[in-house]
Amino acid sequence: MLVTNHVLSGALIGTASRGPGEAFAFGVASHFALDAVPHWGDWRDRQHFLHVAVRDGLAGLAVMGTITAMAPAGRRLTVLAGMAGAALPDADKPFRLVFGRSPWPRFVDRFHQGIQREALSRAPVEVAAAAVFGGAALTLMRKRRRER
Ligand SMILES: [Zn+2]
Repeated sequence: MLVTNHVLSGALIGTASRGPGEAFAFGVASHFALDAVPHWGDWRDRQHFLHVAVRDGLAGLAVMGTITAMAPAGRRLTVLAGMAGAALPDADKPFRLVFGRSPWPRFVDRFHQGIQREALSRAPVEVAAAAVFGGAALTLMRKRRRER
């Protein structure tokens, strides 16, 4: 799944969590759960992968910064921890690009790769996930802000 969608689901998890540790742990777990859902991918070649991955990575960072800034001050670290945990397993992509290897143990990479169910026809899954996770995170964040 696109890292931007992992970030949005992590924002929802962080907003719903009691603290940063819980948010981070559920964020990491959510990454693998979402990657097991059939999603967009199975790129034609490395160029095609990079075309999508670089834009997605930059969008994910922009979303992470925006949502961190939008989060109520008292919830900011927990929301950021949820997003960071949810995005962290995909750190293997930029690491491979820069350092030529994954930062994770081989069994983690094998598991991560093995759960992917990708197809080029599934871009609508990513759009729906962005709408659901982004909408739910912003709605819950607004509710939390009113509760203060
Ligand atoms: Zn992943």
